[in-house]
Amino acid sequence: MAKTYHDADADLSLIQAKKVAIIGYGSQGHAHALNLKDSGVDVKVGLREGSKGAEKAKASGLEVLSVADAAAWADTIMVLVPDQTAAKVYKEIEPGLKTGKTLMFAHGFNIRFRTITPPADIDVSLVAPKSPGHRVREVFTEGGGVPALVAVEQDATGNALKNALSYAKGIGCTRAGVLETTFTEETETDLFGEQAVLCGGTSALVKAGFETLVEAGYQPELAYFEVLHELKLIVDLMYRGGLEYMRHSISDTAEWGDYVAGPRIVTADVKKAMKGLLNDIQDGTFAKKFIEENETGRHEFARIRKEEAAHPIEKVGADLRKAMPFLDPVVVKDGNVVK
Ligand code: NAD
Ligand code: MG
Ligand code: MG
Ligand code: MG
Ligand code: MG
Ligand code: MG
Repeated sequence: MAKTYHDADADLSLIQAKKVAIIGYGSQGHAHALNLKDSGVDVKVGLREGSKGAEKAKASGLEVLSVADAAAWADTIMVLVPDQTAAKVYKEIEPGLKTGKTLMFAHGFNIRFRTITPPADIDVSLVAPKSPGHRVREVFTEGGGVPALVAVEQDATGNALKNALSYAKGIGCTRAGVLETTFTEETETDLFGEQAVLCGGTSALVKAGFETLVEAGYQPELAYFEVLHELKLIVDLMYRGGLEYMRHSISDTAEWGDYVAGPRIVTADVKKAMKGLLNDIQDGTFAKKFIEENETGRHEFARIRKEEAAHPIEKVGADLRKAMPFLDPVVVKDGNVVK
């Protein structure tokens, strides 16, 4: 069983006694900075010149410094920039990392794959909320907290875990529970989950289902509803009560179909492919390619993004969602949200 920490296991006064720099003001950054501020923590935000986040942070009453100045000022520096940018941003943080300070992350990628190698005389820890940043903020303002993972990579002071738990309490996560892990376990399971199931697996399953129906002559609008739109309804049931509650809620016809068809789709070969993905994650093959792709202009990334956006399910979906304002539909163009 994972060791789990709750409010009573964390001392908020530890982080309240520190100066905390939040580097980056995106999805996670804004949530951590605002939750800590509301928890009585001395927080400043570190951003590059001309960053879009700077105005937002200032409007919320936060002081904004350059990355280097924020890192020099703070005792605790939380890195919340995109993972592919963190090694570059770290070069500006590094001069500020004096003995006894703490460097923190919300995902272990750069430490696990050694694109960042911090000095030995500082603490290195991780608090990774298991939720998108906007939920980290929303749930906190409603008096709750989202669960998180905590890990310590370097414990130079002997207090790294206590301090990380205090930080987790400051952003609300000990209200829901903070599970102890390692940078390696967090990074490898996170990458596997998003590749095999959450993002890669699900997108591929949805597209294959849509294509199968449309190629057989069924109307694309019906195919969209059956394989994409309704997916949310099914996932919501799983989220609340596991597979058993989902199966309780669907018809017996659907439940029987689930049992007999699932294993015909996710076969032993699919599981073998999953083990292949996991291997590529563990031995660094995935990380190496992703880092190379980022260092060489992201041409392949851009090509695939464009190709995927042109899939017929995207066109039919966009048209159908326009007539469903209750969904609060979002329109994305060239990788950016336009509404
Ligand atoms: P994001 O893309 O939403 O925001 C990144 C922010 O970094 C931007 O808003 C910008 O202000 C800043 N930034 C970008 N380039 C910079 C630079 N060169 N110098 C200084 N600042 C720069 O990122 P995110 O999704 O919040 O991810 C941050 C970290 O949190 C990552 O390690 C990610 O893996 C982790 N994480 C994210 C989520 C999530 O739901 N998004 C969940 C758990 C963990
Ligand atoms: Mg994840
Ligand atoms: Mg991830
Ligand atoms: Mg149905
Ligand atoms: Mg049923
Ligand atoms: Mg993105």
